[in-house]
Amino acid sequence: MKYVDEYRDGELAQGLAAAIAKEARPERRYHFMEFCGGHTHAISRYGVTDLLPANVRMIHGPGCPVCVLPIGRVDQAIRLALKHNVILCTYGDCLRVPASDGLSLLKAKARGGDIRMVYSSADALKLAQENPEKQVVFFAIGFETTTPPTAVAIKQAKAMGLKNFSVLCCHVLTPSAISNILESPEVRKLGTVPLDGFIGPAHVSTIIGSRPYEFFAEEYRKPVVIAGFEPLDVMQAIRMLVRQVNEGRAEVENEFSRAVSREGNLKAQNLVAEVFELRRAFEWRGLHTVPYSALRIRGGFAEFDAEQRFGEDYVSVPDHKACECGAILRGVKRPQDCKLFGTVCTPENPVGSCMVSSEGACAAHYTYGRFR
Ligand code: SF4
Repeated sequence: MKYVDEYRDGELAQGLAAAIAKEARPERRYHFMEFCGGHTHAISRYGVTDLLPANVRMIHGPGCPVCVLPIGRVDQAIRLALKHNVILCTYGDCLRVPASDGLSLLKAKARGGDIRMVYSSADALKLAQENPEKQVVFFAIGFETTTPPTAVAIKQAKAMGLKNFSVLCCHVLTPSAISNILESPEVRKLGTVPLDGFIGPAHVSTIIGSRPYEFFAEEYRKPVVIAGFEPLDVMQAIRMLVRQVNEGRAEVENEFSRAVSREGNLKAQNLVAEVFELRRAFEWRGLHTVPYSALRIRGGFAEFDAEQRFGEDYVSVPDHKACECGAILRGVKRPQDCKLFGTVCTPENPVGSCMVSSEGACAAHYTYGRFR
C-alpha cells in the first residue's frame, strides 16, 4: 500500500474483522494490551473495538508521555518558572497537565510565569539564542521517539557555548514500563489484568528496533506484534496476536515493517547514549517508582541539566483522590470506571493527565463518544 487512506479502508477492515472472528476460538478469551497511546487513539477513533468479537478485548497501556508524567514533575517545572524566573518551554499538551494546588503550567503562566509552548527542542534552543539575558529551560518529556532531538539540542548548545540553556529531562523508556507491567501484582499474582500479548509501539520501535521486545517474548512467554498507527495496522496486529496465541507461540513479529527493523536507528541510539545515561529510579504516574526506567543527562553535559543548575529537587505528590489515571495506565481500569469521567473531568477541564493528551485513554474515549 502507498497512501495512508489505504490503511483506513472500510472493506479491508471488515475483511480483517471477519478473519479475526473466524480465528478467535469461541472457548477462550484473548486480552491484548496496546502499549502506546497512538494505538489507543486509533482504536477509539476508528471504532476498532466494535469490529472485534466479544472474546477479544483490548487493554490500554501506559504509552502516553503526558499521561505518565507524575504531578511532582509538573510542579518541578512550575517552580523553575515561578521561583527561578526562567523561560520554561515545553510541548503543548504538557501545559495543561494538572499539577498541585489547582495549578498547571498554563495557570502558572497566568500567574506571571514566562512559560511558552514549543513544537520541538530546536525551538527551545532558538529561544535561548534569542534571549541571552534569560535562562531558558526545556521541559523534555517523552519516550524514545523524542529523546534523540533533545540529545541534538544539548549537543548543539554545547557546540555553541550557550550558557543560558538547560533541560529538565523526563525522558522515559518503553521496555522498562513493559517489564513493570509484566511484574505487577495485577498481572503476576492477582490475575486482574489477564494479558495474552502486546501490540508494540510504532514510532518508538523505529528508534529502538524490535530486538528489545524479544526479552518479553522469551522470558514471559508473551507475544509482541509491533504495529503502525492506522486502523488496518492495528487490526492486522490483533489477528497476528490471536494466531500466535492459538499456535502456542510467543514471538516478536513486526507488522510495521515499512518503518521498523530489528536493530532500529543505530545513529539515534548512539546519539542518545552519548548524551544520556540511565536514572537509577524514576517515578511514573500509575507505575510508581520504576528502576532504570528513565534517562538523565551525562556528567559531560551537566551544565545543561536544569536539575543540577537550579538545584530544584523532585518531590513526589499523590494523584487526585478520585482520579483513576494510575489504574488506567496499569491496565486495571477503563476510563468509564472513573466516577469523574465525562462529568467533572473533560478535555476542557482535565482532572488527571489521561484526559489531557489526545493519546490519553480518557481523552480518546471522551472525544470519540466511547462511554460504555
Ligand atoms: Fe483521571 Fe479524569 Fe481519567 Fe478520571 S476521567 S481517570 S479523573 S483523567
